[in-house]
Amino acid sequence: MTLANGRPYLAIPGPSVMPDRVLNAMHRASPNIYAGELVEMTESLIPDLRAVARAGGDVAIYVGNGHAAWEAALCNVLSRGDRVLALATGRFGHGWAAMAEGLGAAVEIIDFGKRAPADPGRLRAALQADADHRIRAVLVTHVDTATSIRNDIAALAAERDALGHPALILVDCIASLACDRFEMDAWGADVMVAGSQKGLMTPPGLGLVWFNARAAAARARAGMVTPYWDWAPRTRPGAYYEYFCGTAPTHHLYGLRAALDMIGEEGIEAVWTRHARLAGAVWAAAAAWGAGGPLRLNVAEPAHRSHAVTSMSLPSPHGTALRDWLEREAGVTLGIGLGMAEPGDPAWHGHFRLAHMGHVNAHMTLGALAAMDAALKALDIPHGAGAIDAAAASLAAAPPGQAKPLPAGPMPRVLGT
Ligand SMILES: *Cc1c(COP(=O)(O)O)cnc(C)c1O
Repeated sequence: MTLANGRPYLAIPGPSVMPDRVLNAMHRASPNIYAGELVEMTESLIPDLRAVARAGGDVAIYVGNGHAAWEAALCNVLSRGDRVLALATGRFGHGWAAMAEGLGAAVEIIDFGKRAPADPGRLRAALQADADHRIRAVLVTHVDTATSIRNDIAALAAERDALGHPALILVDCIASLACDRFEMDAWGADVMVAGSQKGLMTPPGLGLVWFNARAAAARARAGMVTPYWDWAPRTRPGAYYEYFCGTAPTHHLYGLRAALDMIGEEGIEAVWTRHARLAGAVWAAAAAWGAGGPLRLNVAEPAHRSHAVTSMSLPSPHGTALRDWLEREAGVTLGIGLGMAEPGDPAWHGHFRLAHMGHVNAHMTLGALAAMDAALKALDIPHGAGAIDAAAASLAAAPPGQAKPLPAGPMPRVLGT
């Protein structure tokens, strides 16, 4: 027998949990792609996508995943041979850098390892050394989904601005958008990429690129741009089919419409705070487990941790054993330890990740943590006591700026389904 029968919880950092509202919005007959409701609905997405990113510029939507958005961002602002500086804080920084290299850019990587964010001082030094301004773009991942490191985008862009260096800042928010606070314009990012399947709670299949006027100007001389990836017709379409360079991803768009409605109804500030508080519960549990055993968070400094996903470790092979037990016995699927060790290396079985990304609430995170506590006990993995108490106390504490955890008066509106 197993205790896993019931609603499963896919707690991997993307694809994330899909709300019933998103699924139901997609459950419909094929719409007309030439005129009518779909056309208006598509146009309605753009202001909401701007709002989620605190961005005033343009948004291009591609039929593709995060990698598609990576390629789209690069080829609209670069030419072959252009110098690109990649700030790597885990697997995805290296992946984006490799793609830029594959497209023909001259890429230099500054590797900050797997436990620390990008150091603005080192970006400053690299840009200062580039006196003739040959670096065209700086690539940085807001949240690396493998290490769960979060970078301070505002601090990095401020270094570029203080030097008056013209390099564009391109940010990968695929894991962080609508989870961790991100303010594209105020922070100084020029291009930002995301996918539909993480904080946006929609099936994988849409790659999204936000860009400002500086990036749009770079597009005018970008030699890498190709007809399919060109963002110009997609953001100034003369006809509806130009939005997607062909047939629209109709049902994904209906799903995204519902997801953006949910984010708008909750409010993006509240969405960010919810993720911060759920992450705090995970960290509290991990601290208690780690006080009496080998479980460790990957990122020591709380200010450098993602609010969307938490990367953790146990001595190998306990990480894999824990994931297997949780999936088999509790219906919770944790993420593998991507990029922390290579498959085949025994250390591979020591790393795992818990996502708290998108359509996730207190009972889901507490449930996942309590199931992890049961797994540690069932597998005789040494661990400190009181983790679930600590997580509950963390969630019971008053949220920042609020005197009481439960406001008096009518029940708050809950967007549960
Ligand atoms: C998921 C992810 C990607 C890759 O997205 P795909 O949709 O798998 O192509 C890239 N960067 C980050 C930070 C991610 O979280």
